[in-house]
Amino acid sequence: MHDRCRRWQSAVLRSALVNELDFDKLLDAMPDAVLVADMESRIVYANASVHALLGWAPEALIGQSLHAIQPERLHEAHDSGFGRYANTGVRSLFGMPIRLTARRFDGTECDVELNLAEITDASGGRMVLGVLRDLGERVELERHLAVLRYLRAITAAAAQLWTRLDPKLVLSTLTDVLVKDFDAALARTWMYEPESNLLRLTTSAGLSTRIKGSSRETMDVATHPSKVAAVARTRTPLIRNDLTDPAFDQDWVSREGLKSVACLPLVAGNQLLGVMVGFFREPIRDEVSETIGHLAALGAAALNDARLVGQEREARSVAEAAVTLRDRFLAVASHELRTPLTVVRGNWELLGRRLRATSSDPEAQRKQVDTSLRRLGQGIEQLRRLVEDLLDVNRLRGGAVELHRSEVDLVALIHDTVAGVTNLTGRSRIRLDLPVGPVIGWWDAGRLTQVIHNLVANALKYSPPKSTVAVSLTELDGRVAIRITDSGIGIASDQLNVIFEPFSRAPNASDQHYPGLGLGLAVSREIVGQLEGAIWAESSGEGQGSSFVVELQRGSPP
Ligand code: ADP
Repeated sequence: MHDRCRRWQSAVLRSALVNELDFDKLLDAMPDAVLVADMESRIVYANASVHALLGWAPEALIGQSLHAIQPERLHEAHDSGFGRYANTGVRSLFGMPIRLTARRFDGTECDVELNLAEITDASGGRMVLGVLRDLGERVELERHLAVLRYLRAITAAAAQLWTRLDPKLVLSTLTDVLVKDFDAALARTWMYEPESNLLRLTTSAGLSTRIKGSSRETMDVATHPSKVAAVARTRTPLIRNDLTDPAFDQDWVSREGLKSVACLPLVAGNQLLGVMVGFFREPIRDEVSETIGHLAALGAAALNDARLVGQEREARSVAEAAVTLRDRFLAVASHELRTPLTVVRGNWELLGRRLRATSSDPEAQRKQVDTSLRRLGQGIEQLRRLVEDLLDVNRLRGGAVELHRSEVDLVALIHDTVAGVTNLTGRSRIRLDLPVGPVIGWWDAGRLTQVIHNLVANALKYSPPKSTVAVSLTELDGRVAIRITDSGIGIASDQLNVIFEPFSRAPNASDQHYPGLGLGLAVSREIVGQLEGAIWAESSGEGQGSSFVVELQRGSPP
């Protein structure tokens, strides 16, 4: 009954359309690309939108094989699938959207969604009609969302890691996050025992229960042939999307359908603490490989702190220091991470609505989508910086970061850094007082930029919107001094040293709700210390403005 009704409806529709509309015009007006191919897989029709999506003039496609719009690596699969369908008439891929990569006229590739239908020509011959929709925007959005999701998981894990400063609990947090947030099928951590040079399996999650006993509990780092031991030896992460290598050829890898592995050393302060491993059922995407290193670095830092706290606990039986650090972290992180997360979340929802909405003005819609994507990007960048600062404090404190000295012109570096800060804040109220010629020394340009960026951004943040911030550079026998002065909220004398501690903020900053985590100065102090320089704050008191001074030796070529 239902079928008959549909057939009748479509007959009515067809006669109405054919009588009153030019069918070609109708197809050309569609935003999606429409192609028709015969049973030899030759294109017999292409509508106008084919040009926008694939860069082909529709006429030029007529008579070509469908290979013309497919990446070469997919040709074989297409031939066998299409051939089977042409011979048997079995339509396994019809009636559902398929995600594919298409090749454009200029050889570049694009993500598309394909819907297939069978039609018949005037003489009853079978043809295949394909509708291709551009997925570029959606794929980009999904990438952003994935990165966001992983960063969120990592920041949530950070709070947990420092709440539970116990090595075993730190490691089980890592395996939990790998399985729950990174979708690992199996996650394991190995703790390193330096006295015996052994790795000991410490926590697992995911498939662990079913494969228990299928691999050993300890391995000798020096001699064991496995990849885990190799990662421990070389301290180099391993990310592999191909597990056919004999080193992975354990029967459970194929039995469980595992496709890829990420194996990361847990290293803090140049010391190997363990190895973290995740097996996945899908190939590892860029978003995962970009962010999973952060998780390992945080895990290693927490593990290191946990060990130190453990040692301290043994010595003093109380670990007040860690507790204060933890409490400070929880207090500021829960507050500060919320702001960028709210921005990101709001724009994500907006973007979703905009992409779903049908619009009579696609150009305006595209602009709105671009704006949301940009804000999303900014929010994610802000989160990334926060996570980066968190990592930096721990890495630098642990001595895990080596500075790379090279010849640097400090005048040019200050110019560039100030331009960068001004770009970010959109404000230009900085007065420069720099020597005319270059001032050359041997420093780590990237790290020095980070220090100056922090100080200038603080001066702008903690002073009235229209006031001036002065940046000067002076030289005195073999040394240079950079001074950044503002006329802002100032610093009470008892706070001048305290503010360089991690998570420390002066009461006048937090009471007046200036945003901040209290990490920038701690990171800066570590960097300047490693450059064998000095950094300090000067202020006549609250409301009296502040100066920050960085004094550096010029250094010499290594
Ligand atoms: P954040 O700015 O994110 O709080 P920082 O480590 O950069 O973290 O600074 C630590 C604290 O030092 C700030 O919270 C603030 O109390 C104080 N501070 C830093 N720069 C200034 C400044 N230019 N004027 C007044 N106070 C400052």
